[in-house]
Amino acid sequence: MFSSKVQIPPSATVTINTIAQQKKLAGQRVFNLSAGEPIMNTAKYMRETVDWAMDNGQTLYPPVAGIEELRTRAAKWMNETYETEYHEKNTIVTCGGKFGIYLLLQAFLNDGDEVVIIAPYWVSYPSMVRLFGGVPVTVETTEENNWKATARDIEKACTDRTKMIILNNASNPTGTMYTRHELNDILETAAGKNILVMSDEVYSGLTYDGRQFISCGSFGEYREHVTVVQSCSKNFGMTGWRVGFVFGREDIIKMLAKIQGQSITGTSTISQWAAIAALQEAKTITAEINREMVSRRDIFINTFNGLFPEKINAPHSTFYSFIPLKAFGTKETDDVKFCEKVLEEGNVAMVPGTAFGKPGFVRASFGEKPEELKSALNALATHLAI
Ligand code: PLP
Repeated sequence: MFSSKVQIPPSATVTINTIAQQKKLAGQRVFNLSAGEPIMNTAKYMRETVDWAMDNGQTLYPPVAGIEELRTRAAKWMNETYETEYHEKNTIVTCGGKFGIYLLLQAFLNDGDEVVIIAPYWVSYPSMVRLFGGVPVTVETTEENNWKATARDIEKACTDRTKMIILNNASNPTGTMYTRHELNDILETAAGKNILVMSDEVYSGLTYDGRQFISCGSFGEYREHVTVVQSCSKNFGMTGWRVGFVFGREDIIKMLAKIQGQSITGTSTISQWAAIAALQEAKTITAEINREMVSRRDIFINTFNGLFPEKINAPHSTFYSFIPLKAFGTKETDDVKFCEKVLEEGNVAMVPGTAFGKPGFVRASFGEKPEELKSALNALATHLAI
């Protein structure tokens, strides 16, 4: 009955999160290490802007590509923060970065087109590629190589059917970040083959220990071949508002707007005003979220290392720790079974590495508040009888 294109698994992170929420609703105490969000309170200035928007009639349909002021501010934010050269016309506001990725794949893929994806990958990439008839081609990476793919690895995966390369910098689930030199090599390879790079940079603001984030959009010579996906979700702690962006060539942005106009119309007007407020205060929010996430990360890593048999390292970006199963001191070798059992019996939610294309690992998020992180790890240790 249903199209063969929608024969895809549900998002693993959403599934785990849903089970965790259901357990909570049933009155159980659930410890959530699965959430892909920095849990923060909504800032006062954001509430004030939203109040102003509601009082001033900003509750009607938005312009399809986004409120002009937001597009302009978003481009300015990218230019000032990441040395890009985008204008309003190079910018579309999407319903989260996720819908930006969806629009890009829909705009470019014909049946059988290949998309190069680096594993471990964000759970939605392969499924979204399949939704549009594309074929995901994965490039494997290893922990020893910091989960990085080289330009050569990517080149080897390209064929004459390759339409796009998806680069997730900084990476969910590994927290890996690429250097300017590494990115230059990858973009040079892509441009040489006339392949578009979709650079998913939704964690760009969450970088720690003095590490500098380099945007693929900052390489002027490869501008034609780069689109950048961005978001307010992780950078400004606004996951539920659903505001993201795509930056790129004007013809691409126009095409995305055409599809958006025939699908969701646009992102909620009220949310767009909240995003305008966030971008006005971008520097302050980024500094605050970074401070908070570094502190949560350190609490998470120190607590983990104090409780479990194998030590894990602190990631330099995002709010995820990608942990080998053996570090938990378990005999279980199946990460899916491990996560299912730990959630069912121990009430601790984590996402199995299999969902990211890397069995034998588990992704734990430290986006939760510090007390929750400590309680969750203690509950996990108790459950595993360590
Ligand atoms: N890209 C990556 C790598 C992500 O981890 C996520 C969310 O988890 C997204 C994109 C989409 O985020 P949003 O739609 O909330 O902007």
